[in-house]
Amino acid sequence: MPVAIAIVGRPNVGKSTLFNRLVGRKLAIVDDRPGVTRDRREGDARLGNLRFTVIDTAGLEVADDASLLGRMRAQTEAAIASADLILFLIDARAGVTPADEHFAEVVRRSGVPVVLVANKAESRTGEAGAYEGYALGLGTPVSISAEHNEGMADLAEAIAEQVPEASLPEDEDVAETDAVVSGEEGEEEAIPEDVGLARPLRLAVIGRPNAGKSTLVNALLGEERLLTGPEAGITRDTISVDWTWRDKRIKVFDTAGMRKKARIDDKLEKLSVSDGMRAVRFAEVVVLLVDAAAPLEKQELQIADLVEREGRALVLGLNKWDLVEDRNRRLAEVREMFERLLPQMRGAPIVPISGLAGQGVDKLMEAAFNAHRIWNRRVPTSKLNRWLEGALERHPPPAVSGRRIKIRYATQVKTRPPHFAVFGTQLDALPDSFTRYLVNGLRETFDMPGVPIRLSLRSPK
Ligand code: GDP
Ligand code: GDP
Repeated sequence: MPVAIAIVGRPNVGKSTLFNRLVGRKLAIVDDRPGVTRDRREGDARLGNLRFTVIDTAGLEVADDASLLGRMRAQTEAAIASADLILFLIDARAGVTPADEHFAEVVRRSGVPVVLVANKAESRTGEAGAYEGYALGLGTPVSISAEHNEGMADLAEAIAEQVPEASLPEDEDVAETDAVVSGEEGEEEAIPEDVGLARPLRLAVIGRPNAGKSTLVNALLGEERLLTGPEAGITRDTISVDWTWRDKRIKVFDTAGMRKKARIDDKLEKLSVSDGMRAVRFAEVVVLLVDAAAPLEKQELQIADLVEREGRALVLGLNKWDLVEDRNRRLAEVREMFERLLPQMRGAPIVPISGLAGQGVDKLMEAAFNAHRIWNRRVPTSKLNRWLEGALERHPPPAVSGRRIKIRYATQVKTRPPHFAVFGTQLDALPDSFTRYLVNGLRETFDMPGVPIRLSLRSPK
């Protein structure tokens, strides 16, 4: 059975337009006179790598009179009953109307998962209307323009989070090359926490020459895998090697340094930041491999900072651990140094390993998968706001020139990495120290060590 998704909302918000967009045919009649009678229709929808059956509930007659409202309600309920997910549409330009509230109540009571969609939000019009949408209590509005085909990637992501079953299997994945070439996040597919492993984890091992990257990757993959790399013709275009670890699939970024291993003079090369950049953009999780005897020089800090700026998860591999004598002391030193020099990646796992002896590599992989899970984590809005309330009670935001900054509401707007939006008034005056207070609180409360956390402050105009 394909996943069934019902498009619900008051008349004229753009349900049929969205239906057409998803089904890809001019099937529905679009008319901007409210009350045009249409049949309830179903169609096969495709959106990114999602496939589902879409149900349009636009066949609702409208008048101002209350009995008709009741009839609309009955029809909506019938459509919802057979749906796995509801797309609840509002008109971002009109904001939230009493009719929206009426339908929202029907939707809420049904208990069917819902994605709130603020339509007609082309070229950023309707931001205020989308903001009002939060008040419906149906989660974060996804802003789209059905007519202008905008915001569809965000919509796909929101749908995939609720009904991951709608995603095509991984071998039809088309996002990969785009993500590597452009490094743009908007085009990537969502990997919700619980289905994150339906696709391979993308891993890069980065470090200075001689840190032990090739040795580690060989230990992970088995010798032959890498030896198949350097043949003429294929290597230049090959950017990743597939492998599985405990039945979980992984794509590991194949750096030039690893492939040219045999050439001694490469060892003299510095770790180039542009190579690092490619690898970081490719990866979801970056293993920064350092020599335990001499960790964290400038280049490594630069790479770790790049990982943070690009929004990837970080695991620090402390290699050549077999050569370290006072291990407890060394580990404490490294941890202290790391937290001091890279506070923005606080709590990233530090895993001692010996690539040569094959020791600790399983722990390293566990840490990588755990980091990936955190990176994909979504914090429910209700929990988030309960936390926010407490955090604000303990430390109210300061007053700026006599007027209080007000923080009202928080919601997670994105994953990979976790990205939160905080709404309120005069937030542009909020001191950085307060933003850090919030980010640190989020990190601790929701257990998100070692991943970048984004926080946007939004004050409606
Ligand atoms: P329905 O009654 O909810 O099915 O709404 P329709 O799909 O019939 O759309 C109602 C009106 O809104 C039509 O005039 C559409 O052209 C218009 N409309 C739909 N989507 C958009 C959009 O994204 N932006 C703008 N500006 N208008 C839209
Ligand atoms: P890369 O330049 O980062 O790819 O580093 P290599 O994998 O070529 O390793 C550089 C040198 O460090 C080689 O001589 C390896 O044998 C050695 N090496 C790598 N891993 C370890 C380790 O865990 N312990 C020890 N003692 N030596 C290692």
